[in-house]
Amino acid sequence: MKSRATPAPRTHDEYLATLAADKRATLAKLRKAIAAAAPGAEECISNGIPAYRHEGRSIAEFALKPKRVAAKKRGAASRAVTLLLAVALAATTLGAQSSATPSGSGGHNDPHHVAAPTIVLLSLDGFRYDYLDRYPGPNFARLLAHGVRADGLIPAFPSKTFPNHFTIVTGLEPQHHGLVANRFYDPARNASYGMSDSLAVRDGTWYHGEPVWVTAERQGMVAASYFWPGSEADIGGVRPSRVKAYDGKVPNAERVDTLLAWLALPADTRPHFLTLYFSTTDDGGHRGGPESAEAAEAVRTVDVSIGRLLDGLERANVGAGGIELIVVADHGMAAYTPAQYVALDTVIDLQDVRVADGGPNANIHVGGGRDRATLLRDSINRRMEHGRAYLREDVPEALHYRDDSRIGDLVVVMALPWQVGLARSAPRSAGGTHGWDPANREMQGVFVSWRPDAAGPARIGTVRNVDIARYITDRLGLAPAPTTDGVPGRLAQQLKDARR
Ligand code: AMP
Ligand code: ZN
Ligand code: ZN
Repeated sequence: MKSRATPAPRTHDEYLATLAADKRATLAKLRKAIAAAAPGAEECISNGIPAYRHEGRSIAEFALKPKRVAAKKRGAASRAVTLLLAVALAATTLGAQSSATPSGSGGHNDPHHVAAPTIVLLSLDGFRYDYLDRYPGPNFARLLAHGVRADGLIPAFPSKTFPNHFTIVTGLEPQHHGLVANRFYDPARNASYGMSDSLAVRDGTWYHGEPVWVTAERQGMVAASYFWPGSEADIGGVRPSRVKAYDGKVPNAERVDTLLAWLALPADTRPHFLTLYFSTTDDGGHRGGPESAEAAEAVRTVDVSIGRLLDGLERANVGAGGIELIVVADHGMAAYTPAQYVALDTVIDLQDVRVADGGPNANIHVGGGRDRATLLRDSINRRMEHGRAYLREDVPEALHYRDDSRIGDLVVVMALPWQVGLARSAPRSAGGTHGWDPANREMQGVFVSWRPDAAGPARIGTVRNVDIARYITDRLGLAPAPTTDGVPGRLAQQLKDARR
């Protein structure tokens, strides 16, 4: 492993020293404003970027909970935070292309990796297993013509975006990689993580396990990410050599073009593992449900983006190892109505109870110990049809959802299409969502492996998303991450059998 990267800053002062004069002045001003607005806030460096913590919480979360801040200081604190985040975001985007990003490879491939294959991992958020048949498109046809398609990709529980994206790249169930929901509370650190909290998302200490880009970078192979949950964090001191701060407004075409530009780099710096992410189908599916005009339109848009990607991949000159595109979805989608909702407030007394996340399942932290949790569980189960509450240690084994206190003291698991949560979070209109038990067919996503020269189309049965990370590191010739919840070699065998 080489260390050509500039060492990451450890203090605000070190960070300031790396900035151009104008940015330095802006950041110094923000620092003053934060000190005035939130005198107890403690300076720290999170992923190479200045951050603040206050009463054990990241300042971003602190800003979202203004009632914790003295009223007269509130405005200044929020303003300062907004500005700070803006600067941090700019710094990350710059850092993505500069040596400020701590990447294990230092942005250069060790010579023995130059002949390795190149793998592009594309996530189509919420692209259900049957969309390829329900909404066919000319570019999907191109993909399948040289592809192996699975009957479905089985997600981990809960079938949500952050838990499953991180399962796909680590091979670990959410109970082992730490992202047990899109938003959750960690009683051990008395702090919350949320996918919209950019400081938490970039704080590597939330993540367990080793994503594929870390495995690659640590072994001197360049990795790049055009969006993926966890990619912005410095996990065990490592980020992809090229990474983008998440911005859902960037058009898919721009994401594709940038990824293709990365593939056109000289062999020394060209990434061998790349991620790409489109949220289009998740957005469309949420709006109208999986069988709506919105979903159909979203799939059509994705077909066009895949056409642009295939045009580029067919022409890419990536050397002897060749290229493989793996198309995955984090989960599927199912329709719900607002009437199919249980408001927890009407079922139990919420005094000293924290409902960290709701929807097809709920994560509940209970003050008052195990006895109170048991009482609440029984109250819920006496009054609620269409779902069941469990103490964490009793969650059905098949869900693999017990081993982390972030899961909560109680888990409410609803039957599809029912949802649970606080009355104020109840949906007002019908739509689509996901999060239910992966045993429901509707929760399965798409899986296609494409190679430009492969004979296709070919079919395999269902694939488990915990198998993907190990498949990728094996294909890249890397020593695998130390642990997996998948079965090493299983996906490779499925694909081999199909290609025979
Ligand atoms: P879900 O609520 O599970 O449907 O989450 C889907 C949403 O996750 C998308 O619409 C994006 O807004 C968000 N998202 C996806 N990837 C990222 C990321 N890397 N960083 C932050 N947010 C993301
Ligand atoms: Zn998703
Ligand atoms: Zn979604």
